[in-house]
Amino acid sequence: MRMKTISIFGVTGSIGTSALQILRDHSDGFKLNVISAHSNMDALLQITNEFSPEVICVSTSEQEDILKENFPNIEILTGSEGLVEGASRETDICLNAIVGAAGLPISLAAACNAKTLALANKESLVCAGQLLLSNCQKGGTQIVPVDSEHSAIFQVLEGQDRSAIHKIILTASGGPFRDWSYEKMQDVGLEDALKHPNWDMGARITIDSASMFNKALEMIEAQQLFGVASEDIDVLVHPQSIIHSLVEFTDGGQLAQLGVPDMRHAIAYAIHYPKRGKSGVDRLDLAKIGALDFSAPDEKRFPALRLAREVMNGSGCEGAAFNAAKEIALDGFMAGNIGFLQMADIVEKVMVHGDWKSAPDSLPVIKEADQLARELARNYIN
Ligand code: NDP
Ligand code: MG
Repeated sequence: MRMKTISIFGVTGSIGTSALQILRDHSDGFKLNVISAHSNMDALLQITNEFSPEVICVSTSEQEDILKENFPNIEILTGSEGLVEGASRETDICLNAIVGAAGLPISLAAACNAKTLALANKESLVCAGQLLLSNCQKGGTQIVPVDSEHSAIFQVLEGQDRSAIHKIILTASGGPFRDWSYEKMQDVGLEDALKHPNWDMGARITIDSASMFNKALEMIEAQQLFGVASEDIDVLVHPQSIIHSLVEFTDGGQLAQLGVPDMRHAIAYAIHYPKRGKSGVDRLDLAKIGALDFSAPDEKRFPALRLAREVMNGSGCEGAAFNAAKEIALDGFMAGNIGFLQMADIVEKVMVHGDWKSAPDSLPVIKEADQLARELARNYIN
């Protein structure tokens, strides 16, 4: 059987590292094509030694020099143009596991050049859902989501009548502050926000999970990916993160996908698609777990969910602005410049005071909204 080629952008991150674990178990099935890293040179050098990729994308010319000296036979691409060039190389699978809006140009380039776009970078769909979907359609690229909730929904919908979808129900662990009072949440520190009860993830998405901005992004991601109306997307708090999401159909039946909370399931599903292969994930033993809990989310303590609905009701660049404002607010919280609850205040101000009506039909228009939202958010922080 021919080896499949796979490119991994963000190979040094949490998703990238989990993907490499899967490749180790399938050493005769996949050949690493293009990889990218941003700051973690130690990990990148180790990965390169172990996997001998064809091409490496890095951010600076200093990193380029180090790699050229150590690996004279590997092609090195540099900077944001290098990333786009790397993502434009033909490949069977492109796993986009870069964090933030920086991942968008990669998804757009992969849309014409990869057979499968395994999409962890949810920001691509939040900022430019329609553009990305239409590029994928033109390029014959299949998007397979890597976000666990969207992977669950994607799996549930295989072979189903999509016109019979009544509701998409995204599950949410509720994060570390699920049961905290609003007063207590005013004093949340960085350490508290970095303690996710179930999932082991990169720092940024871990804090976004604590504020439920991650769920807000996922609501928008689901709307874009599955083409459902804002009011047909619900969030259900489920602290054990065993049910990864559900779909309710017109006949009242609900289908769900379950598993232990381990991202290797969704990653393996996407890279083996349309087949299934090993993921290395532990087996789920429901008898041992015994009971699963559910509750409705609290939009007062987690205003990100309310803000997401407003974004979903827009038809302009609201998604790009929302994500960019959130990224700056998150930077502000991580740097200790604003409190935990202020993140949502800042994002709301940016959404209310900016004009986001331009149609998000090209990368320059989307980038303009992204830049303006960042500028406004920085002004509100200072
Ligand atoms: P990490 O922070 O662990 O890793 C991010 C990766 O992106 C690293 O390889 C990093 O390089 C690279 N990177 C960071 N900034 C830039 C930049 N400006 N330009 C180019 N590369 C950059 O993130 P995660 O793996 O947690 O998340 C990746 C994506 O997957 C996010 O969109 C997240 O929302 C999504 N996701 C993650 C889940 C998880 O379990 N982690 C679950 C569901 C979705 P370096 O380390 O070398 O600096
Ligand atoms: Mg998720």
